[in-house]
Amino acid sequence: MLELLPPPPTDPLWDLTAEFAADERPERLNLVLGVYRDHTGRTPVMTAVREAEVRLAEQAGSKEYRGLSGNTVFNRAMQSMVLGPQTPADRAVTVQTVAGSGALRLLADLIGRTRPGTTVWISDPAYVNHRPILEAAGLEVRTFGWRDAEGAFDAEGVLRELGAARRDDVVLLQGCCHNPTGADPTLDAWEALAELAVREGWVPFVDLAYHGLGDGLEADLLPTRILAARVPEMLIAVSCSKNFGLYSDRTGCAMVLGTSARALGHAETALQNAARTLYSMPPEHGAAVVAAILGDEGLRAAWRAELETMRGRITANRAELATHLSALGHGAQARALDRQKGMFSMLPLSAGQMLELRRRHAVYGTTSGRINIAGIAGHRIPRLAQAVAAVLDA
Ligand code: PMP
Repeated sequence: MLELLPPPPTDPLWDLTAEFAADERPERLNLVLGVYRDHTGRTPVMTAVREAEVRLAEQAGSKEYRGLSGNTVFNRAMQSMVLGPQTPADRAVTVQTVAGSGALRLLADLIGRTRPGTTVWISDPAYVNHRPILEAAGLEVRTFGWRDAEGAFDAEGVLRELGAARRDDVVLLQGCCHNPTGADPTLDAWEALAELAVREGWVPFVDLAYHGLGDGLEADLLPTRILAARVPEMLIAVSCSKNFGLYSDRTGCAMVLGTSARALGHAETALQNAARTLYSMPPEHGAAVVAAILGDEGLRAAWRAELETMRGRITANRAELATHLSALGHGAQARALDRQKGMFSMLPLSAGQMLELRRRHAVYGTTSGRINIAGIAGHRIPRLAQAVAAVLDA
């Protein structure tokens, strides 16, 4: 049987990671994957997470099956965090998933079960997994441009291109800290997008993976809430990988907003049925940790404070890289960089220049120019700026 399998495409990001692992240059710098690292280069377990884990271990709970919707305390706490505590219970349903990726896939399945072959619009460029996840659920993918020539969010262009989205199409938007560009809409632009969705009847599908790492937790959730307040129906995929540092615990949830309890009940069952055919039930540990943190005032405050520290480090890294690039004669590129938000930045380099950066300077980013600005120790930023400037000047 396996002889019939054609050579499958490999994952470019994991290919780069393998190339990095084989690189023996001591100055090598891996900025490919979106993982937060502290000033020592470690990806720490957050203090509140560790404390919640200790408490859970002491309680010695049971590992009995939890059900297809996962941990319901976690689901309620996440819904309240994302949409606000005042959201009426009959406005949304939330189902725990295998991290943000699992949420994207379950919601894509929900769309496919509702109306097979629905068109879903994604930004160009988009998070690399958006298209394959949507296509795996049998959906049609169309794209709309995201940035202007200076690399900033292009409100006019986006609204114009999304003018072609039809009633019942779905538009996938990243709620904050756009991956890979770091270019986010202003609040006015979010209002305009909400208005367009209401007028044209398309359904927003929000992907939230970096809330808390852009302008702050509440500020980063505001665009999602602006949309939620205006549109009748909406889908939200939420990841706890970055902002709780729970990467390998695969923690997240899928939310559906609707206007009737009956439709929401059907949506929840459809999500459960999709989960049943993919993996049955989501893993409990990360969800139990998040539920413990969000349900305890002290742990919640400690988590928020640590998240703020992480955000501060990311912002400082980006500002420092911009300052050094500017001092090396690349002021315009530095200003564009400084406007970006979240874990990623786009360097003003072509695919060929990114290859040069890798070959000559041992700096690993994706070929699109994306680097993980949260993945670099502060003392290495001057050298990164010099490498980028050298490639730009070559
Ligand atoms: N959406 C976006 C935009 C992402 O960047 C990521 C992670 N890189 C995810 C969703 C999914 O993350 P995870 O499955 O690890 O929670």
